[in-house]
Amino acid sequence: MAEVENTDRDRPVDLRSDTVTTPTPGMRAAMARADVGDDVYAEDPTCRALEERVADLLGTEAALFTVTGSLANLLGVRALVKPGAEVLCEARAHIARAELGAHAAVFGVTSRTWSHPRGLVDLAAVRELLAPDAGPYFVSTAAVSVENTHNFGGGSVQPLDSLRALRELTAASGVGVHLDGARLWHACAATGVAPGTYAACADLVSVALSKGLGAPVGSLLAGPAAAIADARVWRKRLGAGWRQAGVLAAAGMYALDHHLDRVAQDHANARALADRLAEVAPGIVEPTGVQTNIVVLDLAAAGIRTGATEVAERARAAGVLVSVLGPTALRLVTHLDVDEAGCRHAGDVLATALK
Ligand SMILES: *Cc1c(COP(=O)(O)O)cnc(C)c1O
Repeated sequence: MAEVENTDRDRPVDLRSDTVTTPTPGMRAAMARADVGDDVYAEDPTCRALEERVADLLGTEAALFTVTGSLANLLGVRALVKPGAEVLCEARAHIARAELGAHAAVFGVTSRTWSHPRGLVDLAAVRELLAPDAGPYFVSTAAVSVENTHNFGGGSVQPLDSLRALRELTAASGVGVHLDGARLWHACAATGVAPGTYAACADLVSVALSKGLGAPVGSLLAGPAAAIADARVWRKRLGAGWRQAGVLAAAGMYALDHHLDRVAQDHANARALADRLAEVAPGIVEPTGVQTNIVVLDLAAAGIRTGATEVAERARAAGVLVSVLGPTALRLVTHLDVDEAGCRHAGDVLATALK
């Protein structure tokens, strides 16, 4: 369990993202104790141990520790998609919206998207978009990328059946699958499905330590040994090789030991927040759709005329920070630095700010 939680009301309750967590004293102690070496020479024992541990967890041959989830995704998609070919993804996928065009800017990857209100895989749409061998006039599809849980879709969990069906559909045409599992842990906590069961539906998987698990830095890309060895070369080529990174890997190991089991608490806190806000502003969120630690509020659907920015400003003035996703959309993310009482307080503040 997390040994320190933020109950100090002088500090704002920060629900902008689960990336805002700061390392606990126990995590800092583990970082200070870390056994380290030069990771570019593959001599950092803590990095090696973390990579082996995550590969084991996901049931893949190998894994690579990277500085960000964006880098893990960039290397993962690159492994599947040649320059000029395309990756298919949902329209609000992190790779499409929040990685600043890296896949195109760096590796010449193009994309087409399908839309789903909750960010879920739409098999019929994928089937229609898939063009594995599009000939000399059209772009060929090399991969499909799926986000589980889906961040901007409201932390929604991809149904295992549709991931398996997607795997079958794409495998039949030689198209790869990339799984952006920045919050795969949350999908597992919500469903009881093992990480490896989800990972088996993809060729390459990225997972984050710096979101709900509370590490200060780090993600991993997991997959076949040859692809991961190649990704290690590209990581260095992009200038992201690192030396005594074991101090960061130790934080990740600590997070897996102590913070993995507690994400269900964040889910309960998110659901309670959604229940409260749906009560004061019917239509603003469907609480039963809040499966994990993300609550997306739709002000327009609740008939609220005040803009999202204004509501966020009012909440900020009262010590609660939330993200503005669009003119009428807000996002709240629960995490280990905000306890149940903090979330209740945020519910009170937001209930007032929405009036
Ligand atoms: C945050 C996030 C990432 C990228 O992580 P960074 O470490 O911030 O680069 C990738 N995918 C999803 C779904 C995310 O939420």
